[in-house]
Amino acid sequence: MVENDSRLAWQPAASVASFLGESHGLWIDGEARPAKSEGTSCVVNPADGSVLSMVGAGTHEDIDAAVAAAKGSFLRGAWSGISPEAREETLRRLGGLIDEHAEELAQLDCLDNGMSLALARGEVAGSAAHLRYFAGWCSKIQGETIPPHRGGPYVVFTQREPVGVVGAVTAWNFPLDNAIWKLGASLACGNSVVLKPSEETPLSALYLARLAAEAGIPPGVLNVVTGLGAVAGAALSSHPDVDKIAFTGSTATGRTIVKASAGNLKRVTLELGGKSPSIVLGDANLDKHLPSIVGAVMHNAGQVCSAGSRVFVERSLAADFLDGARKIAEQLQVGPGWKEESEVGPLVSPRQLGRVLGYMGQGSQEGARIVSGGSRLLGELASGYFVEPTIFADVRDNMSIATDEIFGPVMSVLAFDDFDELVMRANDTAYGLAAGIWTQDVALAHRLARVLRSGTVWINCYNRFDPAVPFGGYRQSGYGRELGEAALDEYTQRKSVWLDFS
Ligand code: NAD
Repeated sequence: MVENDSRLAWQPAASVASFLGESHGLWIDGEARPAKSEGTSCVVNPADGSVLSMVGAGTHEDIDAAVAAAKGSFLRGAWSGISPEAREETLRRLGGLIDEHAEELAQLDCLDNGMSLALARGEVAGSAAHLRYFAGWCSKIQGETIPPHRGGPYVVFTQREPVGVVGAVTAWNFPLDNAIWKLGASLACGNSVVLKPSEETPLSALYLARLAAEAGIPPGVLNVVTGLGAVAGAALSSHPDVDKIAFTGSTATGRTIVKASAGNLKRVTLELGGKSPSIVLGDANLDKHLPSIVGAVMHNAGQVCSAGSRVFVERSLAADFLDGARKIAEQLQVGPGWKEESEVGPLVSPRQLGRVLGYMGQGSQEGARIVSGGSRLLGELASGYFVEPTIFADVRDNMSIATDEIFGPVMSVLAFDDFDELVMRANDTAYGLAAGIWTQDVALAHRLARVLRSGTVWINCYNRFDPAVPFGGYRQSGYGRELGEAALDEYTQRKSVWLDFS
């Protein structure tokens, strides 16, 4: 039993309080088990530094057990061998259970990650919709009949088969969504999964594992091992019986995972970081879109891989833009996610706080001008990891706040004069996750969308996601796609079958 820390200034629902009060084991083969080492670690509330709960600290031995359970369930056909209809019904049931337990899941992600309750509720509703979308694919994953180019007495067809055991390693910024984005497509295709959630935010994944069992997902098909990335994550990504790693996280860790995957040449998909340009052309409708342009950076306290944090503004509009953006940023309510009025929550951890404050200091040192914010928030928020929504003007392309992913509520504003120069500068980054374009000129928007080197381009909107629309990065923002039909390719392999009828 975990004592509720007296600093927790808000009482969540009784069912959430009871869940937090448990000391959580790992979820392996359909049951909760303590880590083999008996190690545990604290889960901390970033809004006030209190201890929320305790979880098992999984090590390579636990990963071995979880992978063995996943492999056993896969080879038995416990999930891969049942009818697509049965898989579809089970995934729909899980979507329904997520809806039924939406408030519990939202409160858990709000407490664990710091995001506002409104954002967490949206995340949970999106997760249920995601599962229902992928449930529909179960019966539609099919091969083709191929007439051989060189003829012959053959019937040749392909069938699409699951890859086997999928290791899913996820980040902390949208804990439930990160997991569901991997589980929806993996499970629809018939794979068995070992999920290693971020050590910062493991709670909703553990709650989800119970719901999955209740929905009828057989033991061994979904396993959750909590633990450190360098220990449990590393063991999973180098494991010889894991057939594929689906990773969401930083570009640096992505590189480590690719190296670790080489031992058995497992397949890898990577959803990594970004430094996405948000391009405000001279004719942009600021009255209508300025809140969205600012929101594209401040959403979830800037802890969004696709954050439109490198804002290029046509010079003729720069003064109006900065004035309007400053007013919006200054009005954003910063506070604990559980307060209905909070719009920007804390950063997830002291480490993230230090990183973001470091970049704020560096921006000033390098000569950028703070238009708004720039500091940590103390006073009644001092025990949490809060910073002010921050806007820098006079940013130059080579400053660290223009090149590095900060993953905090920090907007870097860069002025531009000419279209060709803009395209060069916007594309001059190692990343390529997303881009935003704000203009009333549809032709110009299309011209720009075509030349921006990123996996997603939003025009007059930002951070729109839908289970049917593929998402993923160009260049060092990763490879492979999540969401949509494209995700099915990542979790299946094609077998060609030849029959000689001569
Ligand atoms: P991170 O790379 O530190 O950690 C991500 C996950 O990897 C965690 O579960 C962690 O435990 C694990 N991990 C860490 N070291 C590991 C290792 N050596 N081997 C295996 N696993 C290891 O990233 P983070 O700080 O949790 O998340 C922030 C990053 O994630 C940002 O760069 C952000 O852009 C990115 N992100 C990308 C997307 C996307 O869809 N492209 C979405 C969310 C977050």
